[in-house]
Amino acid sequence: MQVGQTTGPAWFPAIDAELCMSDMNCVQFCGRDVLAVDPETRKAAVRNPQNCVALCDACAQMCPQDAIRLPDKRRFQTSIARLRGNPESLPAS
Ligand code: SF4
Repeated sequence: MQVGQTTGPAWFPAIDAELCMSDMNCVQFCGRDVLAVDPETRKAAVRNPQNCVALCDACAQMCPQDAIRLPDKRRFQTSIARLRGNPESLPAS
């Protein structure tokens, strides 16, 4: 394992290239450099998934095509709580 590399549940978007209409609002919006234009398809693509902010879903919220998916928040939080050995810390659903 490299320094800074973590294990556990991952949080980053997945983009449905079939739905993406290449408006690139998500690429321009995200200040974390997670997303980029795929030079071949000219669609949005995930470039740096490790930069994504856990539980952020801003890019998905702004996509008019509903082309961006993120993990289920509740399932992600449950996984984190289990890793910490503290499942009682979960927020009420
Ligand atoms: S979920 Fe948030 S941090 Fe992650 S790519 Fe989208 S806007 Fe950026």
